[in-house]
Parts: sequence; C-alpha cells; structure tokens
Amino acid sequence: MDLGIKGKRGLVCASSKGLGKGCALALAEAGVDLVLNARGAEALDATADEIRSRYQVSVTTVAADITTDEGRAAVLEAAGDLDILVNNAGGPPPGMWSDWERDDFIKALDANMLTPIALMKAVLPGMMERGWGRVVNITSQSVKSPIPVLGLSNSARAGLTGYVAGTSRQVAPSGVTINNLLPGIHATDRAIGLDTGAAEAGGISIEEAKHNREQTIPARRYGTAEEFGQTCAFLCSQHAGFIVGQNILLDGGAVNATL
Ligand code: NAP
Repeated sequence: MDLGIKGKRGLVCASSKGLGKGCALALAEAGVDLVLNARGAEALDATADEIRSRYQVSVTTVAADITTDEGRAAVLEAAGDLDILVNNAGGPPPGMWSDWERDDFIKALDANMLTPIALMKAVLPGMMERGWGRVVNITSQSVKSPIPVLGLSNSARAGLTGYVAGTSRQVAPSGVTINNLLPGIHATDRAIGLDTGAAEAGGISIEEAKHNREQTIPARRYGTAEEFGQTCAFLCSQHAGFIVGQNILLDGGAVNATL
C-alpha cells in the first residue's frame, strides 16, 4: 500500500534499536526522510547505515539523551520543520511500590511523560501552520492494564495518555493527529532484560521465563519490532487522518478486555 508520505520529514526518538528502530525502518520504506536519535552513537550510526542502504531516504543522526533539555534542543535543531514525530525513550526500571521516592518519579515522568510533551509542544505549531502532521507516542499496554512491577511506567504513561486525549482534539482541526501505540511484549532488548529478571527471581532459565510469558499471550508469541513499525507507519500515513487521540494496543490479545 502507498502510504502517501514519500518525501515527508520525520523524527524518531530512541531509535537505534527495538521498537523505535522498527518505526524508523517502516517510515523509511514509505519514503520518509529521517532524523534518528539514541544516546549511544555506535548502534545509532549502524542503524542509520542500514536504513540508507535499504531505502533511498536521507538519514541524519543525533546522539543525545532525549530526556534532557540539551538533548532535545540538539535533536530539534537537526530536525528542522517536521511532518512526523515518533516519541520514544527507554522505560523505567521495575520494582515495588514501596521502593520509589520522589526522585524516581521525577525521572520516570521526565522520560516518559514530560519529554514527549516538550517535543510535541515544540513541533505542533509548525505542523498546524502547514496544515499537516502526525505524532505517534510509544507508550505501553500498562496504560490499559497495569503491570504491578512497573509502577513508575504505569504512572508516567497514564499522565501522557491524559495529555494526549485532550491535546489531540485541540490540534485535529489543523490537520494534525496525535495517537498512542501501546506495545505488549515485543522481542527487543527490553524484553530480554525483563525475561532475565524473571529467570533470576524464579530460579529458572531465560528460555523458560520467555516460554512462561508467551503463554500469557493469546497469540502465544512475542510481537516483532517490524510489525510494530508498520503499524506506526500506517498511523503516520495519509490514510490515518481520521484516527485522532486513540490508544492502539499491539499485544497479541494479552489485555483481556472487550473494549
Ligand atoms: P530497547 O530495545 O531497549 O531500545 C531502546 C532504544 O531507545 C535504544 O535505541 C536506546 O539506545 C534508546 N534510548 C533509551 N533511552 C534513551 C534516551 N534517554 N535518549 C535517547 N535514546 C534512548 O527498548 P524497546 O523494547 O524498543 O522499548 C521502547 C519503549 O517501549 C520503552 O519505553 C519500553 O518501556 C516500551 N515498551 C516496550 C515493551 C517491549 O516488550 N519491548 C513493552 C511495553 C513497553 P541508547 O541506549 O543507545 O540510548
């Protein structure tokens, strides 16, 4: 399907690996020129080279921590006038409700709520003036169904979701859509990290921990970064202009809910 976004300009944050990389690859396949970001330059440059060699698009990289003021300023300067923004950053660590102090919450809020809000605030005026824009925030299935050990993530992402619910309705008259993509368990480094933690806690192998988690998913497998990226690219396409303020689950049916 032609997504109708060839020649658009997109920023994908936290995109050297995992879900962000999946989004970058799918947008590049659709002909979008990209600005990519991650903290580590080596993996970021490798991903940029891979995309340049597979697709005829321009790729600029900015190695920076997107959760800092300086990092966002550097990324936004390189990005210029954007048509597409994909917000992403690493997720907060697991723990117990009693572990976390104010500073832990501030860090999680900075990474998973205030950073995407700051980036939206920076790019929305230009998109609205030009009459076209697409924003996709990578959040989590925990927005719909809490993951108890990820209390910091549950809290920060719920805040972002509330912001998007109202803001998306305010910018939609200008041809700009904002939606959230909610990953369930996907086969990325993050998932391997959580499997490793479960294996250590349960005294089992990582393979067993993965198998156990797969059994909690009706599709009986982890999602892939590729299928996640293709959904993101569709939400950024011309065809998705009537999808506004939605929270779209990609979880193999793991969240057991009718709506
Ligand atoms: P991942 O495989 O660990 O990849 C994370 C990517 O983000 C890397 O490219 C990393 O590169 C970059 N990154 C991390 N922190 C950054 C920062 N502060 N500034 C700039 N770049 C940063 O993670 P993932 O599985 O794709 O997860 C992406 C997001 O989805 C996370 O917020 C995660 O919590 C959420 N999520 C994932 C799953 C899942 O099953 N995978 C499920 C639910 C939610 P550098 O380390 O070099 O910066």
